Amino acid sequence: MNQISSKQIVALLRSEIANYEIEKKNHDIGSVKYVGDGIAVINGLDHAMYGEIVVFENGVKGMVQDVRRNEIGCILFDLEGSIKEGTKVTRTEKMASVPVGEGFMGRVINALGDPIDGMGEIKADDYYPVERPAPGIIDRQSVCQPLETGILSIDSMFPIGKGQRELIIGDRQTGKTSIATDTIINQNGKGVICVYVAIGQKASTVAKLVNTLKTHGAMDHTIVVTANASDPAPVQYIAPYAGAAIAEYFMYAGKDVLIVYDDLSKHAAAYREISLLLERSPGREAYPGDVFYLHSRLLERSAKLSDALGGGSITALPVIETQSGDVSAYIPTNVISITDGQIYLESGLFFSGMRPAVNVGLSVSRVGGAAQTKAMKKVSGSIRIDLAQYREMEIFTQFASDLDESTQNQLRYGKGLMELLKQPLSHPMSMPHQVITLVAATEKLFMRIPVNKIKKAQMAMLEYFKTYAPEIERKLNDTKELTPELKNKIVETAKKFFANPTLVK
Ligand code: ATP
Ligand code: MG
Repeated sequence: MNQISSKQIVALLRSEIANYEIEKKNHDIGSVKYVGDGIAVINGLDHAMYGEIVVFENGVKGMVQDVRRNEIGCILFDLEGSIKEGTKVTRTEKMASVPVGEGFMGRVINALGDPIDGMGEIKADDYYPVERPAPGIIDRQSVCQPLETGILSIDSMFPIGKGQRELIIGDRQTGKTSIATDTIINQNGKGVICVYVAIGQKASTVAKLVNTLKTHGAMDHTIVVTANASDPAPVQYIAPYAGAAIAEYFMYAGKDVLIVYDDLSKHAAAYREISLLLERSPGREAYPGDVFYLHSRLLERSAKLSDALGGGSITALPVIETQSGDVSAYIPTNVISITDGQIYLESGLFFSGMRPAVNVGLSVSRVGGAAQTKAMKKVSGSIRIDLAQYREMEIFTQFASDLDESTQNQLRYGKGLMELLKQPLSHPMSMPHQVITLVAATEKLFMRIPVNKIKKAQMAMLEYFKTYAPEIERKLNDTKELTPELKNKIVETAKKFFANPTLVK
C-alpha cells in the first residue's frame, strides 16, 4: 500500500495553488486575432473591462471598446507597427487617463497629453480619467456670470454664460474657428483658462491658429490639444475627452475654463470609422446607434459648479460643420438638442461681407440672458427685433422703387445696425464699448452717416469717448449698470461728437 504522508499532501496542495495562480495570470495575457486600421481584436483577455488600457508586446497602447463573449475589440493609440496575429497583449487594469496640471498652460499637446511643440517635457500634477461622469444636479448652480466673447453681435443678442454650452454651426469657411479664437483672445487678462481641441484638422491650420493666439498674447492662458487629420481615428476620437479632462482639472480647482471642440462633425466621423471597423451595426447616415451619447456625455461635462465645490466652470463652444446649410442632418440636430443654443453662421452673409456672418433669425442662446450684464441687457433689448424687421422688410422691398419715408428710414436704420455689427478679426470689443455703440445706434445717431462710413464713424466715436469722457467707460466697467443718468451722458457725448463735422468724415 502506498501511504501518502501529510508532507506529500501539503506539497501537492502547494503545487496546485501555485499552478492556479499561473492559470489566473495567463488569463490576463491575450493574443491578437486581427489587427488593422487602428483597431485590434484580441483573444484570451477574459477579464478586460470597457475603457481599460491594454499594452501590446511592442509597447503600443490600446483601449478596450468592445467586450464580446470570447474576444475583445480595442482601439490603438499608435500606428500598428509590428503588431501581428498572435502578438501578446496584457491588461493594465487602468482606465485611460491623461496627465494634467498647471505646466500645460501655453503648450500644444497631442490627445495623449504628450507635448508636440518642441518645448520639452511637461511636469504633470496629476492624472485625470479621460471619461468621467458629468457633475450632478446638486453639484451645479445655474449660469450667473457672463463669458464675454468680445464680438458685438454675440454679446448683445446671444450672450454666453460661464458654464453654458453654445454651439457654433455653419458651412465650411464661414468663420466658425475665428469666432472661437476671437473669444479666446478676448479672455486676455480675465482669468479664464482656454482649452482648444482641434479634431481632424490639417496640422498647418492648427499651427497657424497657435501663431495667431501667440501674436495676440493669448497663448499664455491657453492649452491646445490636437489630433490632426493624419492621426489614426482612435486618437481623434479620444481628443475631446482628453481636452475635457484637462479642463476639469482647472474647473475643480475653482477656475473658469473655456473649451472649444473644433469640430465635432469630424469627431463623429472618426467614431463612425472605429465603429464600422469594430463591426457594430450602422444606423442613420452609417453612424452607430450611440452617436448621440458620444456627444452628450462629452458636453454634459461642462458645468458651473456650486460654491461648495469651488464655483469653477467649464464653458463649451462645440463647432459643427454643416453641408450646404443643412442643419437638419443627423449630427447637427443631435448637437443642437444637447447644447444651450447655437450661433448659426451663414455663407450667404459671409460672402456678402457681413462678418462675423451670424444669422440673427436662426441663432439663439437659451440660458445666457440670465448672465448678461444689466447694462448690456437694457441696451440690447430691441436690437434683435429691429434686425428681424429689417430683414423681412428688405426682402419685401427689393423690387419696389418708391417707398414711403418711414419705410426708407427703417431700412436705413437696419442697414446701419448691420454695418455696426461687422467686426474685423482679432478685434474684440469691451463691454463698455459695446454698450456705447448700441446706445448711439438705438438713439438713431448713426442715421445721418452714409452706410459705407458708419464703421469708421463708430471707431472715431469710441476714440472720442476715450479722450473726452473716460469716466463713462470706467463707470460701466465698475457698476455694469446703465442708469438713466449714465445713458443721458452717453447720448449727450455722442451727440456732441456727431455735431462736429470734422470728426465725422
Ligand atoms: P473651416 O470650415 O475651414 O474650418 P471656418 O468656418 O472655421 O473654416 P475660419 O477659418 O474661421 O472659418 O475663417 C475662414 C476665413 O474667413 C478665414 O480666412 C478668416 O480670415 C476669414 N474671416 C473669418 N471671420 C472674419 C471676420 N470677422 N472678418 C474678416 N475675415 C474673417
Ligand atoms: Mg475651422
